[in-house]
Amino acid sequence: MNYEQRMLGPLSIILLKYVYFCPFVQLTQTEISEIKELIAIPKEIVIISHRNPDGDAIGSSLGLQLFLEKFGHRVRVILPSEYPDTFHFLEGIEGCVIFDQDRSLTKDLISKAEIIVCLDFNSLDRIDKIGPFVQDATCKKILIDHHLDPEPFADYVLSDTAASSTCELIHQFILELGEEDKLDEKVGEAIFTGMITDTGSFKYSTRPETYETAAALKRVGVDDYMLQDSIFNTQSEKQLRLLGHCLANRMELVPEYAAGIIALTKEDYVDFNIQRGDTEGIVNYLLMVRGIEVAAFIREQPTIVKLSLRSKGDISVQEICRNHFNGGGHKNASGGAAYAKLEDIIKRFKKVLPDYVTKRIVPAQ
Ligand code: 5GP
Ligand code: MN
Repeated sequence: MNYEQRMLGPLSIILLKYVYFCPFVQLTQTEISEIKELIAIPKEIVIISHRNPDGDAIGSSLGLQLFLEKFGHRVRVILPSEYPDTFHFLEGIEGCVIFDQDRSLTKDLISKAEIIVCLDFNSLDRIDKIGPFVQDATCKKILIDHHLDPEPFADYVLSDTAASSTCELIHQFILELGEEDKLDEKVGEAIFTGMITDTGSFKYSTRPETYETAAALKRVGVDDYMLQDSIFNTQSEKQLRLLGHCLANRMELVPEYAAGIIALTKEDYVDFNIQRGDTEGIVNYLLMVRGIEVAAFIREQPTIVKLSLRSKGDISVQEICRNHFNGGGHKNASGGAAYAKLEDIIKRFKKVLPDYVTKRIVPAQ
């Protein structure tokens, strides 16, 4: 065996692994030309994002909708479940179709769609019962996303885990189509919103392109202060009191595994009348504690227990969610759910911690 033959084995394994776990899929020049042709004539377009939509899901959907409408398309955004009130200021948000509330309209729109664009999710189970309709639709499908391991259900895929947000990729998509002149203040506001929320106001998941995108959006007139103010300084008294309750009464630290947990019970949901969006961002407070590098926010809901995990550095909460809580997401921000008792989920989280975090020596207090 010569050198090349000997090297081919290990090399092909490395190559295969890279292709399988490839952190990005870019659009080729041919694909971009095909998409340009596809959107050149007005069409019926449906944009779909994930359940419990966050700022990135909503911002990318509305930004792309406003952009595509400039070509004369009829565009509808479909969300599996209701969006948080916080984002009410975004142009076009009241036109979103909520699957939970309007199942027949959702089916109708998908069956008539000539293009379906899927945003900010990587697998069809993230859109609940809409998944099979999208799977069965015969029209062209486009996926734009920044989560690991996209499922191969779309004809065109723009997926990059290094991107701060799907919104950043919407900007890239607009540039690649050569349609920068259609990027106006309203499109920009929607896209900037998702960038703010997915980076915690540009604190994490950023790269040079993130700031380049932000600069481009500011140049078309986006008022970033207004966005930050509308998103973060609009909490209700109830939300702040709930945060206080979480920190004062529901927080537990496991310093030897650099972990923090906040767990809310069903009773807390009743006592604080917790609604969708009220618990947004609470998980991040755990990472403010010195020495805490992995955070779990666990909620007991009527039928399931939901988890939101966050981490710093090399600790992969994506693996924890994928391996133990039927979920996934990003390396440092993931979620999951399980049909089990709240105490059992907390126990399970603590039990698996040593597999993901090296034990720390905690100095005596
Ligand atoms: P959050 O904790 O804010 O709900 O979600 C954080 C990240 O994890 C998001 O990127 C979201 O898409 C992902 N995520 C949340 N819940 C789930 C889930 O049940 N399954 C999967 N695959 N990802 C989730
Ligand atoms: Mn996102």
